[in-house]
Amino acid sequence: LVVLENVNKHFGELHVLKDIDLTINRGEVVVIIGPSGGGKSTLCRSINRLEPIDGGTIRIDGKKLPEEGRDLARLRADVGMVFQSFNLFAHKTILENVTLGPMKVRKVGKAEAEKHAMELLERVGIGTQANKYPAQLSGGQQQRAAIARALAMRPKVMLFDEPTSALDPEMVKEVLDVMTDLAHEGMTMIVVTHEMGFARRAAQKVVFMADGQIVEESTPDEFFTNARTDRAKDFLSKIL
Ligand code: ATP
Ligand code: MG
Repeated sequence: LVVLENVNKHFGELHVLKDIDLTINRGEVVVIIGPSGGGKSTLCRSINRLEPIDGGTIRIDGKKLPEEGRDLARLRADVGMVFQSFNLFAHKTILENVTLGPMKVRKVGKAEAEKHAMELLERVGIGTQANKYPAQLSGGQQQRAAIARALAMRPKVMLFDEPTSALDPEMVKEVLDVMTDLAHEGMTMIVVTHEMGFARRAAQKVVFMADGQIVEESTPDEFFTNARTDRAKDFLSKIL
């Protein structure tokens, strides 16, 4: 469903993505882990074209990511993204946050958008918060609203970039539970996280990234019990 071939990216002199080849199949959950500065966020951002790449190709559902224009908006709508900082619109209610994209980009009518939004908010457990503003919600609730907002676009794939690392510990679980449910329902997901419990529970594949390269790609079991490279072993010894 998502295919990266020989993807390269520089920030000036800095080579942040080096010959990345990665395939994510439909329904697959891929966890990306690795040391800070390794290029994980840049990789995510390049998949929905928040960052342009300077070499290689990225295909989503067979379609090559275009340079710009209307096709880009449509392709981007296929890729839901959830960030560490929830990025909700502060001056809109939770319901408005969730309905905005579908109405603007997908041209869904208001009534239908609101009905779908309420279903999603119920599903992530915050139906009763629909008419509040983001600042009136806890961090965990805001992140679940951000997930509902991304799902409202009916994306083909969801990207999560450290979705729980800005949350207080007691709120981490409620967000991971929503993500685990999504995974079990068959959503295709790319998740940057250091939550190893989630990786073991929900992922089919773990990608270990360091210095702009994919160093290891394996199943969670293999990776956590039998990492092949010193790089990965060293990283695991620091976080486990
Ligand atoms: P972390 O675990 O800290 O989030 P990461 O693996 O997500 O790290 P990236 O954020 O992708 O790493 O950054 C990779 C490298 O690219 C880093 O050296 C970073 O400083 C650099 N970088 C990221 N964004 C930019 C930018 N907009 N301009 C210049 N350099 C950047
Ligand atoms: Mg990052």
